[in-house]
Amino acid sequence: MASGRRPLIAANWKMNGLKSDGVALAQAVAAWAKSAGAALRGEVLVSPPATLIDAVSAALTGSPVQLGGQDCHAQPSGAFTGDISAAMLKDLGASHVILGHSERRTLHGETDDQVKAKVAAARSVGLVAIVCVGETEAQRDAGDTLAVIVRQIDGSIPSEATATEIVVAYEPVWAIGTGRTPTLAEIVEVHKAIRARLAARIPGGDAVRILYGGSVKPSNAPEVLALADVDGALVGGASLKADDFFAIVNALPQA
Ligand code: PEP
Repeated sequence: MASGRRPLIAANWKMNGLKSDGVALAQAVAAWAKSAGAALRGEVLVSPPATLIDAVSAALTGSPVQLGGQDCHAQPSGAFTGDISAAMLKDLGASHVILGHSERRTLHGETDDQVKAKVAAARSVGLVAIVCVGETEAQRDAGDTLAVIVRQIDGSIPSEATATEIVVAYEPVWAIGTGRTPTLAEIVEVHKAIRARLAARIPGGDAVRILYGGSVKPSNAPEVLALADVDGALVGGASLKADDFFAIVNALPQA
């Protein structure tokens, strides 16, 4: 992790949690982060399903834990049944929104253009967009990883975005929820390429935080979070277990 960028551990709860267990988990994270105080080694964020955002927002009040959505629509309002807007997330206390997650790209057919429009919507209301990029296993096997990542960055991030408005999450599709991870050298190679591309496209691009995501757990977090240009993690499955999530946050290197 390079100096100057405050690390971020972001939880992606995906489509998990009813009101009672979601609120209990949020309360546990809030209490833990509050008691850690100045010893907290980075920023902490939870992204519950849309149904829990309001209740989780209340549970996080007074704690340093930030709140994110898992998606938003590109339009501010209108006839979009089932969707939610960036302003709606902001209205409930969210500061971030995950966009272009591979599950949305794959299962909902989201294109780079659509992700870019959503990032623009997030920017317009002051939400930080956590933009996910990552190659499939077939793309990695074909030697296309870096080309895919650069294409997704160029296609998904508006050129006028500034360094504080976005976070990039490198999430190899084949590593999400599988227990498999790239080698440390492979993570470094991709993060370095992302850093170079951001520096070329965005003023102050060196300040953009780049998270690694894909089967991060307490056992591999220390070595992953210590890598150059890894400024934190986007955590799915392990973020649903409070103790595992705390262990991952505690694995951040000391500033
Ligand atoms: C994710 O879906 O963003 C993710 C990183 O999932 P997991 O940690 O479960 O691989």
